[in-house]
Amino acid sequence: MEKGTRLIHTGSEGDPHTGAVSTPIYQNVVFARPDLYTAGQWEYSRLGNPTRNALEKSIATLEGGRYGFAFASGMAAIAAAFLQFGSGDHVIVSRDVYGGTFGLAHRLLPRFGIQVDFVDTTDPDSILDKIGTKTRALFIETPSNPLMKITDLQAVAALAKEYGLITMADNTFMTPYLQRPLETGIDIVIHSATKYLGGHSDCLAGLVVTDNPDLARELSLLQVMLGAVLGPQDSWIISRGIKTLKVRIEQQQQTASRLAQWLSDRPEISDVYYPGLPGHVGREVHFGQADGAGAMISFRLSDAEKARRFIDRLRLPVIGSSLGAVESIVSLPALMSHSSLPEEMRRELTLDHQLVRLSVGLEDYSDMQADLEQALAHS
Ligand SMILES: *Cc1c(COP(=O)(O)O)cnc(C)c1O
Repeated sequence: MEKGTRLIHTGSEGDPHTGAVSTPIYQNVVFARPDLYTAGQWEYSRLGNPTRNALEKSIATLEGGRYGFAFASGMAAIAAAFLQFGSGDHVIVSRDVYGGTFGLAHRLLPRFGIQVDFVDTTDPDSILDKIGTKTRALFIETPSNPLMKITDLQAVAALAKEYGLITMADNTFMTPYLQRPLETGIDIVIHSATKYLGGHSDCLAGLVVTDNPDLARELSLLQVMLGAVLGPQDSWIISRGIKTLKVRIEQQQQTASRLAQWLSDRPEISDVYYPGLPGHVGREVHFGQADGAGAMISFRLSDAEKARRFIDRLRLPVIGSSLGAVESIVSLPALMSHSSLPEEMRRELTLDHQLVRLSVGLEDYSDMQADLEQALAHS
């Protein structure tokens, strides 16, 4: 099956009892046993729920793994993945990850005795530098947030394997429609399904996929014990979102690529970060492991005041901390998604107040371009 067909025909098999095409919302907690000594397929909704299970099957198939797990948010998924580790373990994390992931790794994991190093994973040597006898895992995001830096998935997965590390990749920006990290040798894929998979800014959700039965057993335990499972209503919403992922992402990507090109020709804009642009560092690596550039663009205006005025004058994009939705969303990472980073780290990563991030939605190109133009003219 082609990717678009798979989005429609995986996991969600509808309802065998009635023929309903959409898997029903099993708004239910306890499943009665036929008798005391016979356990049914379902028992208690934290352990498993048919609506959640349909989504878990669907994301597993789409990512090319056998085991999927749905959580109450992307952060709940990321936290569960990290809590496989414990006191004395060391993990390596991409330097420019999602702000929430940074916060978790920086502030929470040390409380559990887990040591963390943040490295530039676009350079395998800097990963190698940090690998020690206690290192257990490597966590990456590619393209990274917000600078769209590209990590070579296959190269780092191979390197990690050599040292027996578990590799985890946050695939939120790409979705399995554009990039499937398990195929490159990554062990665990994580999503904030709140973003592209749901796609409508109306539901928080997190997903984890692996093809490794040992890791799956561990993740399943963590899902059940931490208890931050995705409810049946929200599972249904994400399953529905996934069915239209192809048309949304193809359209958003097409608009984003034209906007990135247009922005890079504007004198007011100094840098445009978009993997689809010819000069983008790591572009070849990106297109070796992904089927498209996606719909996230970051760019820099010449000073902080101009960037602030530009964002304020935009009419179409919502000013907000999210992404991957039908409406375009603009943000200033230094002030919003990445404000929890220590000042020094923000400076090192060049996450300054001139850097604007745009998640391109489903508005028409001409309206978006006209809006960006009028905002630039007044900034
Ligand atoms: C939003 C986001 C998260 C966190 O997901 P929530 O659903 O908000 O908890 C993690 N990683 C990336 C890349 C994100 O964009």
